[in-house]
Amino acid sequence: MPADDRPLHPATVAVTAGRGPAEPGAPLTPPVVLATTFRPGGPALYGREHNPTWSALEDALGALEGGTATVFASGMGAITAVLDTLPPGARVVAASDLYTLTGAHLDALAAAGRVVVTRVDVTDTGAVVGACHGADLLWLESPTNPLLQVCDLPAVIAGAAAAGARVVVDNTFATPLLQRPLELGADVVVHSATKYIAGHSDVLLGVAVARDPDLVAALRERRTRLGAVPGPLEAFLALRGLRTLPVRLERASATAAELAQRLAAHPRVEVVRYPGLPGDPGHARAAAQMDGFGAMLSFDVVGGARAADAVCEAVRVAVHTTSLGGVETTLERRAANPGQEHLPPGLVRLSVGCEHVEDLWRDLDGALRRSAEVAASA
Ligand SMILES: *Cc1c(COP(=O)(O)O)cnc(C)c1O
Repeated sequence: MPADDRPLHPATVAVTAGRGPAEPGAPLTPPVVLATTFRPGGPALYGREHNPTWSALEDALGALEGGTATVFASGMGAITAVLDTLPPGARVVAASDLYTLTGAHLDALAAAGRVVVTRVDVTDTGAVVGACHGADLLWLESPTNPLLQVCDLPAVIAGAAAAGARVVVDNTFATPLLQRPLELGADVVVHSATKYIAGHSDVLLGVAVARDPDLVAALRERRTRLGAVPGPLEAFLALRGLRTLPVRLERASATAAELAQRLAAHPRVEVVRYPGLPGDPGHARAAAQMDGFGAMLSFDVVGGARAADAVCEAVRVAVHTTSLGGVETTLERRAANPGQEHLPPGLVRLSVGCEHVEDLWRDLDGALRRSAEVAASA
C-alpha cells in the first residue's frame, strides 16, 4: 500500500495481493507446499483443512472480490459447497440461462426432493425480484453463458435482499476486474478459476468468496468434510495465472470488441451477442455496472446447425473445443452439447484469447465463407 491509503486499482491488486509477509529473505512468490501434515501450533494439522499455497491464492482472490475466499478443487466443487449450505426444502430461484452443470445439479437436487427450483429470465428485473419472495436463494450469472444476457445486478440484488433471499453470483465470465458483486450486496461470488483466473487451460480450480464470517466458516467446513480440495500445485498455478489476468483480459476484451463489430456486419452472421455492442440489449446495463465488456461473445451463423458446425470445423487459429477464458481462442456450437438443445441451433460461443486480432479475423471470416459453400451444397 502506498503512503496515502487510497485503494489500489484491481489490476494492481491482481499483481500485488497474496505475496505473504515482506520479511528479509522471504520468497516473492509463495512456495508450493506439498506437505499433508503440519506440526501443532499453526492454523491446522492436516492438508485437507489447510494449505499455505491455498492461503496465498485466497488472500489475492479475497482482496480482488472484497471478501474472504475459499478455494476448491473446481468451480463445481465451490458451487456444490454453496448449495450444500441450504436447508432441506429450500426454495431456489435460478437464472434460466445458466452454466450447464449448475443447472444439472439444481435439477438433481430438485429431483431428490432436497430443494424446489424456479428458473427466471435474468433480464426481467421485476420477474426475478417477484420470484424471490419466499425464496431462500437467488443464483445469478451475468453476463450469462452462452446468451450473454445482462442482469441489472444492483436492482436485482437489492430486491432479493429485501425479500430475504441470499444472492449468489457466478462471476466467471466477468472476473473481479470487470465486476465485483459483493460490493453490490451479493452474499457469495463463485468462480470457475479454471477459466480466466488461471487462464492457461491447464488448471482446474474453483473459489467461493463471501463476507459473512458464518458463511465463510460454513463453506470451509464443507470443503473439509466433502473433500473438494485443490492440489497445492493447482493453487500455485492459479495465482501465477492471476498475476497476468489484467493484461490478458485487456487484450482479449479489445479483440472481442473488434471481432463483435466485424461479425455483426458479416453477411453469414444473423446476430452477435456481446454487451459491448451499442445495439446489444444488455449494453446500457453492462456499461453501468461493469468496468469493461469482457472477452466472451456468441453469434448465430446463417444456415443453422450445419453451417455453424462448418465454421467450427474450418477454423485453424481458433480451436474447436469446449471451455473458455484461456490465452487461446476457443469456439463451439453450444446446442451440440447434451442438455443444451434449447439454444439457437446455429449459436457459436467464442472465447476470445490473446492472439493477434487480424489473424483471428482472417480465420473466422474464412470459416464463415466456407460455411456458405457447405450451405450451398446441402
Ligand atoms: C466452467 C464453469 C463452471 C464450472 O467450473 P469447473 O471449474 O469446470 O468445475 C461454472 N460456471 C461457469 C460460468 C463456467 O464457465
